[in-house]
Amino acid sequence: MTATQASSGLYLCEGCAIGEAIDVAALEQVARSEFKVSHCVRHSALCSEEAVASIRRDLDEGRIDRVAVAACSPRMMTDRFRFDGIPMVRANLREHVAWSQSARAEDTQMLASDQVRMALAQLTKMALAQPAVLPEVARAVLVVGAGVSGLTAALEAAKSGHPVVLVERGEQLGGWAASWSQRMPHLPPYREPRPNDVGRLIDAVRAEGRIKVLTQARVVRTSGAPGRFDVVIALGTGEVSERVGAIVVATGWRPYDASRLTDLGYGGADVVTGVEFEAMLREGAPKRRSNGEPIRTVAFLQCAGSRSAEHLPYCSSVCCGVSIKQALQVVAANPEANAYVLYEELRTPGTAEEFYRQAQRAGVVFMKGRVQRVEAATMTVTFADDLLGDEVALAGLDLIVLATGMVPNSTDIDAPIVEQEKSAEQLKDDINPLSTIRVAGYAGSAQPQVVQWRKSEQSAGGPILNLQYRQGPHIPMLADGFADSHYLCFPYETRRTGIYACGPVRRPMNMAESAEDATGAVLKAIQAIEGAGAGAAVHPRVGDLSYPKIGYDICTKCRRCTVECPFGAIDEEADGRPIVNASRCRRCGTCMGACPVRTITFDNYNPQMVAAMISANEIPDEFAEKPRILVLACENDAYPAIDMAAFHRSQWSPFVRIIPVRCLGSVTMLWISTALEKGYDGVMLMGCKSGDEYQCHFVKGSGLARERMAKVGETLKSMMLEPERVTLEEVSIADSRRVPQVINTFSELIGALDPNPMKGF
Ligand code: SF4
Ligand code: SF4
Repeated sequence: MTATQASSGLYLCEGCAIGEAIDVAALEQVARSEFKVSHCVRHSALCSEEAVASIRRDLDEGRIDRVAVAACSPRMMTDRFRFDGIPMVRANLREHVAWSQSARAEDTQMLASDQVRMALAQLTKMALAQPAVLPEVARAVLVVGAGVSGLTAALEAAKSGHPVVLVERGEQLGGWAASWSQRMPHLPPYREPRPNDVGRLIDAVRAEGRIKVLTQARVVRTSGAPGRFDVVIALGTGEVSERVGAIVVATGWRPYDASRLTDLGYGGADVVTGVEFEAMLREGAPKRRSNGEPIRTVAFLQCAGSRSAEHLPYCSSVCCGVSIKQALQVVAANPEANAYVLYEELRTPGTAEEFYRQAQRAGVVFMKGRVQRVEAATMTVTFADDLLGDEVALAGLDLIVLATGMVPNSTDIDAPIVEQEKSAEQLKDDINPLSTIRVAGYAGSAQPQVVQWRKSEQSAGGPILNLQYRQGPHIPMLADGFADSHYLCFPYETRRTGIYACGPVRRPMNMAESAEDATGAVLKAIQAIEGAGAGAAVHPRVGDLSYPKIGYDICTKCRRCTVECPFGAIDEEADGRPIVNASRCRRCGTCMGACPVRTITFDNYNPQMVAAMISANEIPDEFAEKPRILVLACENDAYPAIDMAAFHRSQWSPFVRIIPVRCLGSVTMLWISTALEKGYDGVMLMGCKSGDEYQCHFVKGSGLARERMAKVGETLKSMMLEPERVTLEEVSIADSRRVPQVINTFSELIGALDPNPMKGF
């Protein structure tokens, strides 16, 4: 018996049907006899104030110094069962036993005993996380771009008490919005175009003492990490350096290049884009460019170059509203004027529907169908009208307005492209659609070579921040050029911790949405600064004080951790030694899963800890006909989905033992080999969707796990085991109805195989 084991306390709950489903007293015996835990307490409702107070009392009076709570899921009652400063684990007796298994059955009791065994094994191997705290944290926020989103971000950060450096590459503040004639309605009753109020926002920023405004400025170099970014900014007069704690990228958008839309008549004197028409409206009653005559008939062609494989594949979402606004301005200026909006799909979500109805009332004509031809010489649009079921020719138009889409400024098209030496591995890792990449040894060549690798023309250009990261100068982007972010769960975040994107560089959006988006991004930036100060993780493991520690005596400098970290958190020294930037780290454990010599550990999560949990379970002998299946379930989606299945009282095989993991990317081969050698009959990794439409909270953890699993088959064969014993299943958090079936199907498949021959060795 070790001193550590002697001071553990096990608290068992009998509430929420646990007491009816299993013999809780028998679990005490498991703890006492197998783990020498002398302090075991049963309670009818462990989450009651009185029970929690008794745990605290036991801690305060030195009876115990670490706690195992065997009750509901570790995802529940987290505030109640929070004992700061001591190691604490949870055993899931409610969702994974009482609510999902047959009451008082032998297999249910065996499962409950294993739940307690796993928790106590985990507790034995767990150390209190010692955070990496920065000695000094910069509180300033750098905001790049001074359009609506950048101005709002700067103002909100300043209002929260943070100094702000606002960098704008142009001469003026306000971005595109500064040149709008009016704006779409963002306030009730959402029916009329409203005055453009960007000027007020600019004035507020200029008047805010905490904001340093730098115009005709560009970020030329960014190094460091959250809490200590060092940024070099080029001004006309030279360079300045700023230290900031977090960065908000609000570089906005640019209109799609209409010169590629000659088939829609662009190039003709009276064929203009929506942005160009805005400038005409701003000058007063618009006139034809060709002859100066007033404009009486206008056709707005929606989706000009949008939702098209040839141009922009996505919907820019704002163009419909902009055309409605402009059409209303046309008919308001001249009640005799005719405005036609030609669309395939009109997108007016939410309150924009009010705006659309107002335009109908005002006489704007909406026509659904497809543009067939545009003849700029005769100003004729031939249109296949869905309602009429016929072709209609709108001839003799005064103006044709092409509602072109938005292209994100996730690169700086005027900045020099930074060529970078990249290994083939890095290239595979990097989903940046960079325009030019110098690739070392790509495709088997020993010589560096320059390749063109354009996923998207829109994203060609130099880096916005020119990050001095081992992983490259760009903020990773999606294929369409928008900043990569987990759009479902973590809008604003980029794949570089402490750097947040907002406004149209993140997705197409209007002025009101951009302002709201900026506020969210600033909150995230402030969280990153606070987290860096405390040594705590940001989303999704908010507040986690652990971070990866590397055992340099064993490290072979193989670089897998630096390459596979999804967030660029690990740099390399000149000799190849990996260096963790703790404040960049999201604590996913992908580096731990990548390390072939298993020398990366977290205080509270490490290869040895989970291996001990796997080994702790009792494996019945081969004649018992009780197979054992290990499920390593991602704590972000799979584990919650399983919990939710229990809420529905779905049942699944009692032969399954489920261990939550931070991400499938953290799964090491050690866990699989430990399980098979111990005698488990099958292993399932259950995590998030990978690939282009990933849902992995850590971007590529589940994809990396899939790649690694592809190599497991050979190992299994060498162990004389069938490859189907180890599998990976992608599920989402919404799959609570499906996960029991997935588990049961795998369980049946494994049950049909001969028992693992290593059982009992
Ligand atoms: S892989 Fe994950 S845990 Fe490892 S350094 Fe990167 S962010 Fe941190
Ligand atoms: S993966 Fe492991 S062995 Fe390889 S460089 Fe990183 S710490 Fe060292």
